[in-house]
Amino acid sequence: MNICYLNGQYLPRDEARISPMDRGFLFGDGAYEVIPVYSRRPFRLAEHLARLDRTLAALRIANPYDLAGWSAIVAEIVARHPWADQSVYLQVTRGPDAKRNHAFPAAPQPTVFLMSDELVANSADQLAEGVAAISAPDYRWLRCDLKTTALLANCLLRQLAVDKGCAETLLFRDGYLTEGSASNIFVVRGGVLLAPPKSHLMLPGITYDVVLELAARHGLSHEVREIPEDEVRSADELWLTSSTKEVLPITRLDDRPVGTGRCGPIGRQMHAWYQAFKDTEMRGG
Ligand code: PMP
Repeated sequence: MNICYLNGQYLPRDEARISPMDRGFLFGDGAYEVIPVYSRRPFRLAEHLARLDRTLAALRIANPYDLAGWSAIVAEIVARHPWADQSVYLQVTRGPDAKRNHAFPAAPQPTVFLMSDELVANSADQLAEGVAAISAPDYRWLRCDLKTTALLANCLLRQLAVDKGCAETLLFRDGYLTEGSASNIFVVRGGVLLAPPKSHLMLPGITYDVVLELAARHGLSHEVREIPEDEVRSADELWLTSSTKEVLPITRLDDRPVGTGRCGPIGRQMHAWYQAFKDTEMRGG
């Protein structure tokens, strides 16, 4: 059974109720995080909670808990589920109001919701073959650095990929790569790892940071810079990264092979570094 946390209570997920007047429901007025848990230990929890804090500050929603408060709830949600590997979802909205009104309520009472699902690793097939992606113009708003629940544009863009039997939609704005509809994107050209710079146009991924840290630690040459569309289309390797997908090679883009059309050596190496890093973190190293 799935147990969730809603405003101080733990209860079965299908029994949890919120008001239709909640601004999360009416306006997508909220922040969220997805935290991967391996062997029952949250991965990069402090970093996820720091990003939540930044999003909430930008939304002008008071953070209802400090690091210790959040950590205790996350630990409890993890303990209440049977899986060693989980994906914990947490959300804070500005809460309900008496009337529908764009302006904030005078005394907001944020809604806090957490749930967890089993985190299923990428299949051996996906890791061996990679996944297919399409591309689309990035028509989202100009605060893509905030992890808000207002994800309609991301949902529409992701569905374009699903409609074509693909895993992800790569987004280009003004001729440059931003990210995927629900992932960050890395490019490999001539043995060099390229990553778009953090800005208001993309989400600063926790996995993105780990990948760049691993590149630095292992001496893989890498550059953080704007990546024009033609460099993406003629890349040797493309990867998508996210907390639930980790590092996953993209081997087809818009019906054409990426590089050789097979998973590349640098992607395989990064995947191995990532797995080893997870293992040391989970052992408390
Ligand atoms: N960009 C977008 C738009 C996303 O939704 C996600 C995943 N939540 C990411 C990037 C990757 O972020 P992270 O590595 O923190 O999961």
